[in-house]
Amino acid sequence: MADITAPAYRVIPIIPVLKPGAMEGAKTFVASDKINEALGFPGHLVEDWHDRAIARMGELLSKYRSLRVYMDACVHCGACSDKCHYFIGTQDPKNMPVARQDLMRSVYRRYFTLPGKLFPKLVGARDLTREVLDEWYNYFHQCSECRRCSVFCPYGIDTAEVTMAAREILDSIGYGQKYSNEIIGKVHKIGNNLGLPGPALLDTLEGLEEDVKEDTGIDVRFPMDVKGAEVLLITPSADFFAEPHIDSLIGYAKVFHATGTSWTLSSMASEAGNFGMFIGNYEQLRKIALRIREAALELGVKRIVVGECGHAWRVAYSFWNTLSGVGEGADPTDRFAQMLQKQLDHRYKQPAHICEFTWDMIERNALSFDKEANDKHIITFHDSCNVARGSRMGDFAGGQFEIPRNIIRAVANHFVEMAPGTTHEQTFCCGGGGGLLTDDLMDVRVKGALPRMEVLQQVVDEHGVNFMATICAICKAQFTKVMPIYGLDRRMVGGVHQLVSNAIILGDK
Ligand code: SF4
Ligand code: SF4
Repeated sequence: MADITAPAYRVIPIIPVLKPGAMEGAKTFVASDKINEALGFPGHLVEDWHDRAIARMGELLSKYRSLRVYMDACVHCGACSDKCHYFIGTQDPKNMPVARQDLMRSVYRRYFTLPGKLFPKLVGARDLTREVLDEWYNYFHQCSECRRCSVFCPYGIDTAEVTMAAREILDSIGYGQKYSNEIIGKVHKIGNNLGLPGPALLDTLEGLEEDVKEDTGIDVRFPMDVKGAEVLLITPSADFFAEPHIDSLIGYAKVFHATGTSWTLSSMASEAGNFGMFIGNYEQLRKIALRIREAALELGVKRIVVGECGHAWRVAYSFWNTLSGVGEGADPTDRFAQMLQKQLDHRYKQPAHICEFTWDMIERNALSFDKEANDKHIITFHDSCNVARGSRMGDFAGGQFEIPRNIIRAVANHFVEMAPGTTHEQTFCCGGGGGLLTDDLMDVRVKGALPRMEVLQQVVDEHGVNFMATICAICKAQFTKVMPIYGLDRRMVGGVHQLVSNAIILGDK
């Protein structure tokens, strides 16, 4: 950390000067045999990695038509090239989205197209050599799968899907990333990303009940494994102990308390995050999602609500229905999915985001706030990538942008937007998403945060903003780490429900 410095702010907008090879040495730790084997992957790089990688690529190209379209459709117009925060921050041309895709496209051409097989040099086709494989490993772990580039691509080419496919191939030959694979192993073994066992969680929750009682004089409960509760809350495990995440957990509990909603957490499914998506592996994605179904069935809940976690909400909103039977479109041949469908109360959205829950209650006048409790904050809102570009909220287009902002305006008096073109659908990634929130990628993370830090600094300077709210555990963890490097106070970052918690009036409702 000591030798990592923040890049200088730029005059916006500006196309970065190229620094070829600037990040070729940035390599995230490779997973050990033990970590890989626990997930059913080869322990280390297999001897016949070349043939197995090409075979896996062929399987993915047949299975995911989108991937083949992405390999064929790019016209190299360059519209995406300066849209990636990692390219902007690192200036490494291989971090341009189009160049990142080309790492795979050049190999695709060589093995899966006729011109590439006959005249490789003419069409920019490359053999999959060890050098190319290492390039894949390094640069596909410098993409947070944020999908910002795809917003600007006239063909809608989704670099995140290309990155996921590359990581899937790497895992299949024993060349997976330590950080993501280790975390997935912890979820399978213990139930959450942080490896917090049930008793430690219970302890933490009891401590929280005491803290809130001391603070408010009110008995707000943080229940765990309560059979027959109405709502099962699935939240990122960071909410249980990390700052500022825990303040949002307190906010959710206060909302449930104030609205008289019976709710519970689950020790079996004590994690909303699903790193199976980051590594592009369907089996892992499904296995992690199935814990939630199991917990919901066991506890007999009627509703499933998801806490503040960006990629978890994308997985829940977009994939839970076919992965685990939560939501419309559950597999009619899957007995457990159908059991869950019968059990859940379909008068409510399944799953629902905690912001949808809270906003619904605000609209029904079921919550009261003392907005002045947040008067010390001049607030801005950072849209998290997976919420902004991979999901929706509410029953109207753009609900994922408006609902969190509506809540902030309902609980606070001072709200300021950051510059247009850097929020809503065009929001910049925090720099730590997609499996990059690891210290061995700190340099990449700090540089990738540059565009967000620049626009945040603008509203700090022009409007005195001193609080940036967000609804993503990764954004919170990333910003609290990199902001001090940019000379900003880490306590400026917090959740939307932290603001709710500050202002909510707890009564007898
Ligand atoms: S990090 Fe985001 S903008 Fe950059 S290449 Fe990946 S998906 Fe595109
Ligand atoms: S914007 Fe789309 S078509 Fe243009 S270079 Fe990027 S990926 Fe290719």
